[in-house]
Amino acid sequence: MSEVEEKRIKSSEIDPKFKYEIAQMHGGEKLMRCFQCGTCTSDCPIAKFSDTYRPRQIIRMAQLGLRDRVLNSDTLWLCASCFTCTDRCPQDVEVASVIRVLRNLAAQKGFVPQVFREQASSILETGYAYKIPELRMKKRETLGLPPLPKGNPKNIRKTLQEVGFFKLIESKGEKSGGK
Ligand code: SF4
Ligand code: SF4
Repeated sequence: MSEVEEKRIKSSEIDPKFKYEIAQMHGGEKLMRCFQCGTCTSDCPIAKFSDTYRPRQIIRMAQLGLRDRVLNSDTLWLCASCFTCTDRCPQDVEVASVIRVLRNLAAQKGFVPQVFREQASSILETGYAYKIPELRMKKRETLGLPPLPKGNPKNIRKTLQEVGFFKLIESKGEKSGGK
């Protein structure tokens, strides 16, 4: 399939209820206020360094009801949650929060990129988002730095168990629709 064909929107992809679903969730209420001015994209620090990440586009896809397209999109996970877009939006759209809502919906379908699954596994195992190499620990010692505080994965596990987090990171959703 050519790139143009891939981008073409088919009526079968549109879910008219999607925007209402988002608007019912905390942070998604003002989704329909967006008039596509592009301020969020032009001020977004991630969009500056990416050819594909465009918050304005994500908002538009959500408004149009392109559920699968937006939830399957890997770019959804590039947002750094800096809230610049939310601060600058002339329509008061909580862009960063809409993206969080979309990520939550994506995660419920099992669409979590591998890198985040690995990060989650590391938190569960060590209490840290990244496994800190032994060599780095030794280097701290030679520099006279104190040891890092121990993570508390037991407590983290207990909390995450309650919210069904394990099922989310274990499940692998079948990607459907276009990217
Ligand atoms: S800044 Fe606000 S109104 Fe403008 S495109 Fe982004 S979300 Fe829409
Ligand atoms: S919160 Fe996300 S979308 Fe908004 S400006 Fe920051 S990185 Fe960009």
